[in-house]
Amino acid sequence: MQPFTYVRARTVDEAVAAAGSDTRFVAGGTTLVDLMRLEVMTPRTIVDISGLPLDAIEEGPTGLRVGALARNSAVARDPRVRARYPVLAQALESGASPQLRNMATVGGNLLQRTRCSYFRDGVSACNKRAPGTGCAAFDGYHRMHAVLGGSEHCIAAHPSDMAVALLALDAIVHVRGPLATRTVPIADLFLLPKDTPHVEHTIGANELIVHVDLPATPFAAHSRYVKVRDRSEFAFALASAAVAFELRSGRVGEARIALGGVGTRPWRAREAEAVLAGQPPSPELVKKASAAALEGARPRKDNAFKVELARRTVARAFEELLVAQDAKDGGGAR
Ligand SMILES: Cc1cc2nc3c(=O)[nH]c(=O)nc-3n(C[C@H](O)[C@H](O)[C@H](O)COP(=O)(O)OP(=O)(O)OC[C@H]3O[C@@H](n4cnc5c(N)ncnc54)[C@H](O)[C@@H]3O)c2cc1C
Repeated sequence: MQPFTYVRARTVDEAVAAAGSDTRFVAGGTTLVDLMRLEVMTPRTIVDISGLPLDAIEEGPTGLRVGALARNSAVARDPRVRARYPVLAQALESGASPQLRNMATVGGNLLQRTRCSYFRDGVSACNKRAPGTGCAAFDGYHRMHAVLGGSEHCIAAHPSDMAVALLALDAIVHVRGPLATRTVPIADLFLLPKDTPHVEHTIGANELIVHVDLPATPFAAHSRYVKVRDRSEFAFALASAAVAFELRSGRVGEARIALGGVGTRPWRAREAEAVLAGQPPSPELVKKASAAALEGARPRKDNAFKVELARRTVARAFEELLVAQDAKDGGGAR
């Protein structure tokens, strides 16, 4: 590990003031410390934010407000999250292990980096780790890589389950910078790799995520997360789907579909949402929406299976949610 300076922030102002272009905040440390040990990330200064009072889960102006330092396990077991935003609890519980979830925070989960092995090995060509060096994944083994949103410079998949759920919930991220606090809709947080894959999101190095608002949308409580992976525990998604919709007089109202494991960023499938909106649910409709969700997919030799897998994952999430809604209202919504 490269030497670095350690600063423990006592207040949000102190944390932001200590941050600069070669600085990283450390929250739970479950991914940053790994990457520093591997020398994939070599910040000169670490600002420890773990002692800041940012772990509350409380009622906010538009719904529930979750502090950036709320632990993944605390968010997942909060009864308000489970009742009003089930997709979030399910996504969190599908990630990592209980021990990791007890340390991992909301802010750290959002800004975790890809699990692409060429990025993490520290030596392979990787435009994300060392811009301009190329991308070893193209000619290498890319079974875990993205089929949506890739560029000729990078096809690394985004790893977060939580971010996929937040995308389906229209979450708003609040960020504190040196001069002001600003809000970033989750849909504007993550960037496509294009020709700058090392620039992954729209949050500056001196900006601290302080909390995330979960709006009280009509579909939030009717939401589900399905994740398909190689093992039933402790594995990143091959494909995952966060689906949210409310049935109104037998028709799908406003719907949200977001995908994980298949995109270079958490992937909002707007075309699929448009297929569903206003229609009565049927197997044909689900098939059409699932196909639309993967429109534009560009699979490669090792990850072509992800296209059909993701379609089926969307369909399964939709069907499970339909069954759950039926069970809740005795079939009255249809
Ligand atoms: C073995 C293993 C398996 C895993 N499996 C999964 C999985 O299946 N699904 C999944 O989604 N995740 C998985 N993860 C990733 C895990 O969810 C993340 O490691 C964790 O959420 C990161 O949170 P943290 O608080 O520890 O972040 P840290 O390691 O402290 O920080 C991560 C990054 O976020 C930045 N950061 C942290 N907080 C803030 C803030 N408030 N404002 C601005 N920047 C901030 C840091 O500077 C750093 O760059 C796994 C991790 C491991 C080690």
